[in-house]
Amino acid sequence: MTTLIKGARVLGGDPTDLLLRDGRIAAVGERLSVPGATVVDADGLVALPGLVDLHTHLREPGREDAETVETGSRAAALGGFTAVHAMANTDPVADTAGVVEQVWRLGRQAGLVDVVPVGAVTVGLRGERLAELGAMADSAARVRVFSDDGHCVADPALMRRALEYVKAFDGVVAQHAEEPRLTAGAQMNEGDLSARLGLTGWPAAAEEAVIARDVLLAEHVGARLHVCHVSTAGSVEILRWAKSRGVQVTAEVTPHHLLLTESAAASYDPVFKVNPPLRTDADVQALRAGLADGTIDAVATDHAPHAVEDKESEWAQARPGMLGLEQALSVVLETLVEPGLLDWAGVADRMSVRPAAIGRLDGHGRPLAPGEPANLLLLDPAARAVVDPAALASRSRNSPYAGRELPGRVVATFLRGTATVLDGEAQK
Ligand SMILES: [Zn+2]
Repeated sequence: MTTLIKGARVLGGDPTDLLLRDGRIAAVGERLSVPGATVVDADGLVALPGLVDLHTHLREPGREDAETVETGSRAAALGGFTAVHAMANTDPVADTAGVVEQVWRLGRQAGLVDVVPVGAVTVGLRGERLAELGAMADSAARVRVFSDDGHCVADPALMRRALEYVKAFDGVVAQHAEEPRLTAGAQMNEGDLSARLGLTGWPAAAEEAVIARDVLLAEHVGARLHVCHVSTAGSVEILRWAKSRGVQVTAEVTPHHLLLTESAAASYDPVFKVNPPLRTDADVQALRAGLADGTIDAVATDHAPHAVEDKESEWAQARPGMLGLEQALSVVLETLVEPGLLDWAGVADRMSVRPAAIGRLDGHGRPLAPGEPANLLLLDPAARAVVDPAALASRSRNSPYAGRELPGRVVATFLRGTATVLDGEAQK
């Protein structure tokens, strides 16, 4: 299969042609011409390496009514992703080689993105004893990222042992940083607004205390730590300090924490309930600055589909979490590119290069150059559209962007040279 992309602006540069052949980029240059090639007109489109998500909830096995590996993969491809890490809080939990291989095989069958299973840190996410980390690393799924996401590995001795254990296979522990004794019954960010609304608060210190503890543990044992969904200005400060000391710590921020604030909670619309909660405008500004200066390494979606009965209820009963895959790039355009905080190379770095490196994924996050795997997307940065949840590929509808106009449209996505999305439509 040979595809000739005409006139794409690689990382926003001058228009050029890209020839995709046998899964790789065969040539990059002006006025390429190849008889028999499928031609894709990319006039005005920006070409970026395929996006890599470190944090996706695909819900299969167990909650196929909310999402499946296939529907989540389709949502990811439409968002410009070529690889997603599937979180371990499924039913059964992905805490054995058997379950991670099942998820990995389902991803291969769907064939829309590379589905990379995350392994649980502890058995059943219960925080009591370590799961079979080595067996998952050695499995066909080659797990390198381990997380109890949804829960914090709260026990410091267990966290230390997990960090020590994953060093053997160059793994990383991705921590959902939440001191559970500080967030019992929490419903939203703790502050003036939570007091006014009469909702139990989730204090910033519950996140920051765990991050501070974990970077010290990672430094002590010389292991890799990754911090999920950083949400406060104080967390950014701790990460900046840790990186200045040479601690092997990386961090991610979600699109919703880059765009939305706690004020959304005043609507009592449970679509805005998420863990960690939406924070203050000052936190949002600090997260944008931290991503722009590289203190925060990556944008990760925390795509969290929920069935209607779990989400459309009273605020206090609703499950936390929101969709993210299909709008992630648009939110980054809105919050960082258009305000001039990040250029296209920066977007490629934070949404592809660095997440691929953190997950130790070969073949993703690579330059768009001859010989490299043909994993890329084409984006129309001038397009604008109002988000319609009914039009999403996800099986769930809990988008916090419903009715909001956002910039950018993913026109095409290529996975090893095969179009998974073309003209904005999923190809299977
Ligand atoms: Zn989490």
